[in-house]
Amino acid sequence: MEHLDTLRALGLFDARVPRYTSYPTAPVFSPAVGTAFQAEALAALDPAEPVSVYLHIPFCERLCWFCACRTQGTTTLSPVESYIGTLEAELRLVAQTIPAGLRMGRLHWGGGTPTILPPHLIHRLARAVKAAIPPAEAWEFSVEIDPTMVDRAKIDALAAEGMNRASIGIQDFDPEVQAAIGREQPYDITRACVDDLRGAGITSLNCDLVYGLPHQTETRIADTVAKVLTLNPERIALFGYAHVPWVAKRQKLIDENALPDDMARHRLSELAAAQFRAAGFETIGIDHFARAGDELALAKDEGRLRRNFQGYTADSCATLIGLGASSISRLPQGYVQNAAATAAYIQRIEAGQLAGARGHVMTGDDLLRADAIEMLMCEFMIDRDALHARHGPTAAALDADLAQIAARFGDLVTLDAGGLRLHPAGRALTRIVASALDAHMPDGVRFSRAS
Ligand code: SF4
Repeated sequence: MEHLDTLRALGLFDARVPRYTSYPTAPVFSPAVGTAFQAEALAALDPAEPVSVYLHIPFCERLCWFCACRTQGTTTLSPVESYIGTLEAELRLVAQTIPAGLRMGRLHWGGGTPTILPPHLIHRLARAVKAAIPPAEAWEFSVEIDPTMVDRAKIDALAAEGMNRASIGIQDFDPEVQAAIGREQPYDITRACVDDLRGAGITSLNCDLVYGLPHQTETRIADTVAKVLTLNPERIALFGYAHVPWVAKRQKLIDENALPDDMARHRLSELAAAQFRAAGFETIGIDHFARAGDELALAKDEGRLRRNFQGYTADSCATLIGLGASSISRLPQGYVQNAAATAAYIQRIEAGQLAGARGHVMTGDDLLRADAIEMLMCEFMIDRDALHARHGPTAAALDADLAQIAARFGDLVTLDAGGLRLHPAGRALTRIVASALDAHMPDGVRFSRAS
């Protein structure tokens, strides 16, 4: 309890800080950085360096109340089909801009619900991506799968196009919790989906779970974890529910009185994490788990774990090209985000221009802080020598911040000539420590809670 009081005093339950899937974070992107920057940065890519590609499908047949993803509901296929046409047009524009010979090292389809696409649209879209940016020899293709919105034909179509990794959303298996978040998904349907994925040769399966949901109890989350373990996934992402109804209007449907309080929420996360560790999973960063031998666990052990918009990854591509409404590209010179509203995105592409609407040009100080924050989020340490080797004398710009962190977080961290280490007892505060290095913390943006 005493330890929890210390964490509480340092902001565990009250701080509202970014998840640092990028630095700077998207709320500080500027409308002054748009298509001109995007075109220049895409044209300047090194064709010898494979890129990652993210493709956003902003449609769902059901809109779950807890979800803050950028997506819209549809019960017909026509808007989806027309959106695929727009994506094809965007891919042609990108292909005209990037240097010849550029290859795709990784492809990820996210949403929304990528598996809303029927097989013929899956093939059409995959072909368009490969025509624009041909896959490298050893490329990887991952897809977010909604078990209630997929069948064997769709899975076979994805596998035929090269899908070798899948991520399924589960959140919680308890019927009362599912009813309270507007997302019904029985275990049997999920099990059948996993069997189909395995049958199609998928060897890397991730399950997304959420703690802090309405009506979730220790017994219920323990039961959910036990059921998830029967699915035998290689990876788990265990996210804290971010109740931000001022951003995600659907969350207004959630009964706030049924949300677990701070202490209960903390116990739910600790309990689920302990269950996964007891089952042989390694902890990856702040909220992921992976089986020993999985690429994510190997990347962690070998110091090459990275953080990206999906969470943690072993992806070594430095550049990410984001396609579709609201997608963010990470280019060597900075970030650019496509128009967020689907209609605005379509309008831009139909006008024959790239869709970048906001972005950020990285300065030397941004690159240094982004590196330090990513190191902290992945390895719970900031290696001064590595920063000096990569950023030269400018790395000294962090010294004052590191000293302040050491003073503020006391014996939860160690600061010496080698750098800063965040001890296991303080790792629940990782995002808060990272925010102390953030030179762009925007005023007036209400982020989700840190725990
Ligand atoms: S959880 Fe998935 S299916 Fe539900 S609204 Fe969000 S993206 Fe759509």
